Amino acid sequence: MTDPSAPATTLTTTRYGASFEEVAGLLSSWGEPAYRARQVWDGLYRRRAPLEELTDVGRPLRARLAEALPLALAARHTSSADRGETLKWLWEGAGGASVETVLMRYPGRATVCVSTQAGCAMGCTFCATGQAGFERHLTAAEIVEQVARAQHDSPQRAGNVVFMGMGEPLANYDATWAAVVRLHDDLGLSARHITVSTVGVVPGMRRLATERLPVTLAVSLHAPDDALRDELVPLNRRYPLADVLAAARHYLATSGRRLSFEYAMIGGVNDAPAQADALARRLSGFSPAAHVNLIPLNPTPGFGAPASPPRRVAAFAERLRAGGVGATVRRNRGTEIDAACGQLRTRHGGGDPGRSAPVTMVQRRGGS
Ligand code: SAH
Ligand code: SF4
Repeated sequence: MTDPSAPATTLTTTRYGASFEEVAGLLSSWGEPAYRARQVWDGLYRRRAPLEELTDVGRPLRARLAEALPLALAARHTSSADRGETLKWLWEGAGGASVETVLMRYPGRATVCVSTQAGCAMGCTFCATGQAGFERHLTAAEIVEQVARAQHDSPQRAGNVVFMGMGEPLANYDATWAAVVRLHDDLGLSARHITVSTVGVVPGMRRLATERLPVTLAVSLHAPDDALRDELVPLNRRYPLADVLAAARHYLATSGRRLSFEYAMIGGVNDAPAQADALARRLSGFSPAAHVNLIPLNPTPGFGAPASPPRRVAAFAERLRAGGVGATVRRNRGTEIDAACGQLRTRHGGGDPGRSAPVTMVQRRGGS
């Protein structure tokens, strides 16, 4: 809360929202020497350490900074799966917004999956976030903070960030892009290791092609034709497949850009051999050849269909390859803690009584 009558010794921003200039201005207004700002900034962004652990900054100053630059997200729960290699956070942002973040650790590296909105307005029928509806956009600071705080709990460097948590990044374009810039310029992530996933917001895809950083784009398809895609992805009625694929081609044609497609494999809905052939035909003519990541559906409470069985997924991948399209079957991380793609959702009031996940929910101290 900001009191308009209060003297301007504190910023109305948060720890990962403040610019370098703002941090420097704050410190100099406290009479700190000029090198302090660089020290604090490097600690937060280069060493990627929590403010509390910047021991080269004296304890009283750290405490003062912590107060002036509060965190934007308060940790409500963490849960872990895959023998601790997958961690999920449920945070609370301003106004009570629920935000979820997933960290996936691998030998020597880690990937953070961030949310860009609390909820999502796109209403994809198979997605738990879509089923829950839209709450609000997240700010760039809230998006960056998810990465920074996931990094604090990862011994491996989180060198990959995927915008595949809750929300549609290109429906919250400005905050998404501001977060991308900060992840690249300040946290030092390579643009290609930042993947923005979209359900097919065509104007956003075209705008992304004009940006200075060549981020990787993932386009969620899920169907080889408009009739089926209209049902699974309501946005397809506004931006049909032909338009989405044209924007994808344009993105790939822009120098240095990489792009792949996502396809949730839904048993008996979009996983027939003929549908693989149809998809391969639609994706022919991509240069370089199109690549599809096949994700077995993570069943969600509000969608009746099951995941495709592994053999059917493998056969689908094989037919795509036969049709000249690259295909990878993606392993799901964190399904038992509802941390997998499409399983994230805001659960005010205790969640879904029909499911009981084998999770250790750890109550954490508030973050701000
Ligand atoms: N809104 C963006 C990014 C967030 S969703 C998008 O839709 O692309 C991230 C990925 O999870 C998307 O590819 C989405 O289609 C996929 N997904 C959603 N629900 C899923 C589910 N139940 N099972 C498997 N993948 C799912
Ligand atoms: Fe939103 Fe993506 Fe889920 Fe669709 S799949 S409802 S766009 S988060």
